[in-house]
Amino acid sequence: MSDCCSTNTEADTTSASAAPRKRPCPVDGHTSTEVKIETMLHHLKAPWAMSLTEQKYYFCDNTDCTVVYFGEDDSHFVLDQIRPTVGQKQYGPDKVLCYCFGVTQGEYLRDPAIKEFVVAQTRAGSCACDSRNPSGRCCLKDFPKPASR
Ligand SMILES: [Zn+2]
Repeated sequence: MSDCCSTNTEADTTSASAAPRKRPCPVDGHTSTEVKIETMLHHLKAPWAMSLTEQKYYFCDNTDCTVVYFGEDDSHFVLDQIRPTVGQKQYGPDKVLCYCFGVTQGEYLRDPAIKEFVVAQTRAGSCACDSRNPSGRCCLKDFPKPASR
C-alpha cells in the first residue's frame, strides 16, 4: 500500500494532517520537501557509509542545484553521491519523469498519452514512487504541463 500518490485519490483528506514539511535548501534556498530516510537509503551510493542521523531530511528539486538531499543540520548529499540519475536535475529528452515505469521526457513529448497510463497505474496503486523516485514523491508531479513544451 503505497501512499506516495495519495493526493490523487480520495485518501487525501485522511493524510492532510501528515502533510510533508518544507525547508529551504542550504545552498540555493529552494523550498524543499521532506523525504523519508528510507527513500534516501534506496538512492544514496554506499548508504552504509553515510552517517544519517536522527533528523528530518529534505529533497531539493531545483534543476540547477547539485544538492539532492539535506538535513536539518544543513549536512547535504550532492548528485555524485546518488546512484540513479536524478531526473529532477536533468534537462532534455533523457530527463526521467517517471521512475516506476521508466518514462523519459522525450518519450512523453512524443506520446503524451503515456501520462494517462501513469495516472491509471497510480489510481490502481501500482506505482512505487516512494521508493523508486529519488524525491519520494509521486512522479506525476514531474510531468510538464502539455502546453509548456
Ligand atoms: Zn538546492
